[in-house]
Amino acid sequence: MNYQSPYEYEKARIHAAAVYCSDGRVGAHFDDFLTNGLKLPRYDRVALPGGCACLAGHTEAHLEEQGVVDELKFLVDAHGLKRVVLIAHEGCAFYAERLHLPGALLEAQQRIDLAKSTLFIRRVVGIERVDCFYAALRDKVITFEPVEVK
Ligand SMILES: [Zn+2]
Repeated sequence: MNYQSPYEYEKARIHAAAVYCSDGRVGAHFDDFLTNGLKLPRYDRVALPGGCACLAGHTEAHLEEQGVVDELKFLVDAHGLKRVVLIAHEGCAFYAERLHLPGALLEAQQRIDLAKSTLFIRRVVGIERVDCFYAALRDKVITFEPVEVK
């Protein structure tokens, strides 16, 4: 049986991409935030465990770093990418399992990584406009908090 999507196909690109964690429990929230909160429908997705953690210089994520850099550079060339949105989320398993960080330190490290990743994308990919957010979980509600990067 074929499934037909109810969403109409729109050819125009929005020239923005989001780099976020592939955790499916927050996928719909990320989509809603990008599409309705930031008004970036049809944004390009770069989803992988830990999101932009791989752009913050952790040796445990070195292989992913090169992959994401290649993907972003491809999107610059092929899709005219001009803006990147980075989202870190509360309780991210990548930080606990791969980077072995204790729970109490996760959020602080994630905020540091958002800043490091922003500088990395500006320097290596050449995109100036990078916006960062922390997706906080409070009583089953996800709130997207802007994270300021100088
Ligand atoms: Zn995660």
